[in-house]
Amino acid sequence: MTVSHLNLASSFSVPLSSQYLAEREVAPAVSEAIATRGVEMVYGEGAERFQALSSINLEIPAGSIHLLMGPSGSGKTTLLSILAGILTPSSGNVRLLGQEITKMSRSQLSQFRLQNIGFIFQGFNLFPALTALENVELALEMKGIRGKAARHEAMALLEAVGLGNRAKNLPKNLSGGQKQRVAIARALAGNPPLIMADEPTAALDSTSGHAVIDLLSRLAKERGRTVLIVTHDPRIMDVADRVLYLEDGRLK
Ligand code: ADP
Ligand code: MG
Repeated sequence: MTVSHLNLASSFSVPLSSQYLAEREVAPAVSEAIATRGVEMVYGEGAERFQALSSINLEIPAGSIHLLMGPSGSGKTTLLSILAGILTPSSGNVRLLGQEITKMSRSQLSQFRLQNIGFIFQGFNLFPALTALENVELALEMKGIRGKAARHEAMALLEAVGLGNRAKNLPKNLSGGQKQRVAIARALAGNPPLIMADEPTAALDSTSGHAVIDLLSRLAKERGRTVLIVTHDPRIMDVADRVLYLEDGRLK
């Protein structure tokens, strides 16, 4: 693969100097990256009981980009959290990369998440006291990459999202679009095959929104990542392989 094919950063007019985002050498053992059977989610009990998800059956092939859309309160964040192993469903099965996460112990699941899932939160969730570089480095350290290697890879990731020249900035000195790109760089730390994002463009102006969409779609199309994005943003529909639509906790 040539360097020009690796140029994820072209939408930010910054050359990519990193091998970091190269395709994973080991092809996934299954073509289905995400699959669910009969997933249900009930919050609360008694009079408070609320069924947030019903009979969710999903199959998402590896290397595709899927959108999860639907009105506010339809269960998008709940479903994404379940698919990312952050939330345990009331019933049903979730299989990621051929492994049943709903059968894993807590420690197996957190290990699995660390290795395989890059999650981009709606509110960025950056550590305010850490620079852009340190935010990404911390994610690498959690994955066992330390010292100079972590610093080097964190820098390469920031360069890959066009933020090499903002590495020393604290989050408060970055624009919304730049913060979101730091969050994406952090989610890419350790090269996870699954990328999940909850409304990644909601807080962004149209230019930075476009750059983020472009980056996420290229991760799927050029890097073989499986990308799942919760969004209200109709601009993202153009790049999606499929749009999943939730209404009152059911897939339409
Ligand atoms: P969306 O992301 O589509 O706006 P959510 O998944 O956040 O929807 O929420 C779906 C429904 O579940 C909403 O009616 C919400 O009020 C309810 N809900 C979400 N989280 C909780 C919770 N922790 N406890 C009780 N109800 C919740
Ligand atoms: Mg939500």
